[in-house]
Amino acid sequence: GRWVALTLDDGPHPRYTPQVLALLRQYRVRATFCLIGTQVRAHPELVRQIVADGHWLCDHTMTHDDRLRRRPDDRVQYEIGAAKRLIEQVAPGARVRYFRAPGGNWSPRLTTAAAAQEMQPLGWSVDPRDWERGRSAASIVRQVHRQLAPGSVILLHDGGGNRAATVAALRVLIPQLLRAGYSFGPPA
Ligand SMILES: [Zn+2]
Repeated sequence: GRWVALTLDDGPHPRYTPQVLALLRQYRVRATFCLIGTQVRAHPELVRQIVADGHWLCDHTMTHDDRLRRRPDDRVQYEIGAAKRLIEQVAPGARVRYFRAPGGNWSPRLTTAAAAQEMQPLGWSVDPRDWERGRSAASIVRQVHRQLAPGSVILLHDGGGNRAATVAALRVLIPQLLRAGYSFGPPA
């Protein structure tokens, strides 16, 4: 059947993550949360809620350094490894299946480091740029539909700034996609 993967980056955020979780729960759909280590440390109860609700986990590094691919090996190992360990520590039994490079700034070294720590590199195919200043919910919804195809990995953000437009867009998008016959799965 037709499926998409929703991915939510840069949380957990005390304001927006609970709103996103409530929506996903309402429609009984699952998403992948790409968590930043410093946010995990500040809001461990949100990580436990994400896990309890059955969502998938992605390591989005400790500090979200957009230039990680230029850093020395020990820094790369720390940024990736410490975030994964912290997630596993605050949510015992949770499995971190994916790794996403900050800003999508990949290098073969980052891919290798993630694989060595048993995580699958996670990209995206639909980017409505919900993080841009002044972006409206309507424009996020429009951009997703414009770029969408079966098997799409949709990039959205539940952290890193004011995400009211993202939450409002999800409130429209999730029922639309369900009506169109999509199911929500983990990224392939
Ligand atoms: Zn990010």
